Amino acid sequence: MAKNRPSSQPQRQGGTAGSGNSGQPVTHGRQALLDGFPGAALLVGVDGAVVAVNARAAGLQALIQHNAAPDINTLIETAHNDRMIAAGAVTLKSAKGEIVLDITVVPAGIDGELVVMARDLTMERNLRTALVDSRQRYKDLVEVSSDFSWEVNTDGKFTFVTPKGALGYTAEELVGKKAEVFVISPEEFSPLPFVSGRPLDDVEVWMRGKDGSTACVLVSCVPLITSENGADKWKGTRGVCRDVTDERENESALARARHREQHLNYIVSTIRDELEPHNMLNAAAAATARALGMAGCRIYRRNERGAFTVAAEYGNVEGLKELDASLESMKAGENVIELTIDKWQVLATPTNYRHAVNGALSMWKPANGQPWENDHHILIRDVANQLGIANEQISNHERIVNLSRTDGMTGLLNRRAFYEEELPRRIARLERNREKAALFYVDMDNFKAVNDVHGHQVGDDAIMFLRDLLMEMSRPGDVIARLGGDEFAMWLDGVTPQVSENRAGRLIEASKTLRKFSGSPEKPLGVSVGVAIFDPKDNEPLEDLLARADAAMYAVKKAGKGGFQMAVPAGTPLAAPEGGKTK
Ligand code: GH3
Ligand code: MG
Repeated sequence: MAKNRPSSQPQRQGGTAGSGNSGQPVTHGRQALLDGFPGAALLVGVDGAVVAVNARAAGLQALIQHNAAPDINTLIETAHNDRMIAAGAVTLKSAKGEIVLDITVVPAGIDGELVVMARDLTMERNLRTALVDSRQRYKDLVEVSSDFSWEVNTDGKFTFVTPKGALGYTAEELVGKKAEVFVISPEEFSPLPFVSGRPLDDVEVWMRGKDGSTACVLVSCVPLITSENGADKWKGTRGVCRDVTDERENESALARARHREQHLNYIVSTIRDELEPHNMLNAAAAATARALGMAGCRIYRRNERGAFTVAAEYGNVEGLKELDASLESMKAGENVIELTIDKWQVLATPTNYRHAVNGALSMWKPANGQPWENDHHILIRDVANQLGIANEQISNHERIVNLSRTDGMTGLLNRRAFYEEELPRRIARLERNREKAALFYVDMDNFKAVNDVHGHQVGDDAIMFLRDLLMEMSRPGDVIARLGGDEFAMWLDGVTPQVSENRAGRLIEASKTLRKFSGSPEKPLGVSVGVAIFDPKDNEPLEDLLARADAAMYAVKKAGKGGFQMAVPAGTPLAAPEGGKTK
C-alpha cells in the first residue's frame, strides 16, 4: 500500500459502504462478525475503501473516508503495510470536549482486507481521571491537615498512618505497632476507638508523643466491614485524629485561673468581712489554709526594726520555729520561696506595700505529699498582694489609734484613753482578781511662773522632766497619763494603801528636783498629789474615784502645795475636804 493512501482516500469513497451492499461482495460471515462486535467495526478493502460496516460504525466510516482523524488512517496503513495488528488511542476534538477512541486494526485475510474496530474510551478515561483526581484530592487534604489519619488491622496494629507521621513519630515508626501503646489509660475505653467495631465521632483520647509529651486528640472512625458467607466480618478500623491539645490546654489554663480566682475571692471576702485588724489576719490565715487545703498558714507583720512577728496563724504549727528566721532575709522583689522544715514543705512569700516588705505569708503541707504546683505559686502571690494592703492598713490603723490615745508631747496616754479605755479595762481585771489599786492625781505647783519667767520652752522642759520622773518611779504594769497642761495621773495596780502612801512620799521627795525650773524662789516648782485607793468591793463608780483623788490633790494645794494627801475612803461626801498631809 502506498504512503499516499490517506490522501487518495476521498477518491475511494465511490462505493457505498453499508451492511452487505458495498461495491465488493461481502460474505455473510464477515458481516456477522462486524455486527457481533459491541463497538464500531468496519472492513477496509485492499484499496483503502470501506467495504462493510456494522450499525455503530457510521461515524468511524466518515472519519476514515474524510481523513478527519489522520491517526486512524495511519494505523490502517501501518497494519496494511506490516500485515500486523496496529492499535492505538486516538483523541478527537468535538464540541462536547475530547473523545478518545481505542482503535484496533486487524488484517482480516489473505486478500488484504482490514477490520477496523473502535471502542469509545472517553467515559472510561474520564472516570479514571476523575478517580485519580479525587484520590489526589483526599491525599492532599489528609496531608495538609493537622490531623492524622490511620488504619488498624484486627490485631489493633497500625497498617497505615498519614505519610507525615503523628505524635512526633514517622509513619514508618507507627505502622506495625499497636495503637493502644500510644494511648494514656487505654483501659478507660471499651473498646478503644482505634479498634472500634462501630462508627465513632470525636472521642477524646490522650496520647503520648515520642518526646514524652501528652497530646489530646479527638478520634473519629469507621469500622472496615466485609461480608463473608453472608455474615459481616470486622477487618479493622480507619479514622482520623484531630489534635486539640492546645485548645484543651487553653481551656484548662482558663479553668485553673477561674479556680484560683474563686479561692482568692473567698479569702479576700473573708478579710473584708472582719473589721478588727487582728481578727482580719486570723480570718485570712484560716481562709487561706482551708481554701488551699494546707496543713497550716502563718501571716507575719514586719515591725519597725525589720523583724517578722507572727500576726496570725492557723492549723498545725508543729516544728515550724525556724521558719520565722528563714523569712527575714526575704527581699521586696523576691517572689516565692520553697523550704523544707521539719516534716513540712513550706511556701513563703513577702507581702509588700509600695515596694517595701511589710510582712510575709507562709503556708505548708506535709513534706511527703505532692510537690508545689505553679498554681500554688500564683495563688500565694495573689493572697500576699492582698495581705500587703491589709498589713499597711493595719499599721495605719494602729498609728491612728496610737495618736488618738497618746499625748503628742510626752507620748503618755491622754486623758480620754486613760479614763475611757485604760482604767475601765484595768478595773474590770481587778474586780475579777479582787485586788486594790491606787490613783495618783498629780498637778504641778507654780508652773505658770516657769512659763512667765523662763518662757514656754523651759515650761515644756519642766513637763518632760516630770514625765521622766514619773516613769522612773513607776513599775511595770503601772500606767502614767498626761491629763492636760501640768496635770498628770498615775495608776498603780495591785497595791495596798500603805504601799501607795510610801510611793507618794517618795514622789514628793523626788519632785524636789523640779525646783531648778522654778520661776522664783517664792514660787518653787513642785507637785501636789492626791491619792485615792480603789477597792473592788466598794463598787465605786469611776467618776467618784476620780473626784476623790482630785479633791485630795486640791486639798494639798489649799494647804500650801508640795505634798500628797490620801483621799477620803470611798463613799465619803467630798463637800468639806480636810487639809492635806504635806511635806
Ligand atoms: P497651781 O500651782 O495652782 O497649779 O498653778 P500653776 O502655776 O501650776 O498654774 P495652773 O496649773 O493653773 O496652770 C497651768 C498652766 O500651764 C497654764 C498653761 O498656760 C500652762 N500650760 C499648759 N500646757 C502647757 C504646755 O504644754 N507647755 C507649757 N510651757 N505650758 C503649758
Ligand atoms: Mg498647776
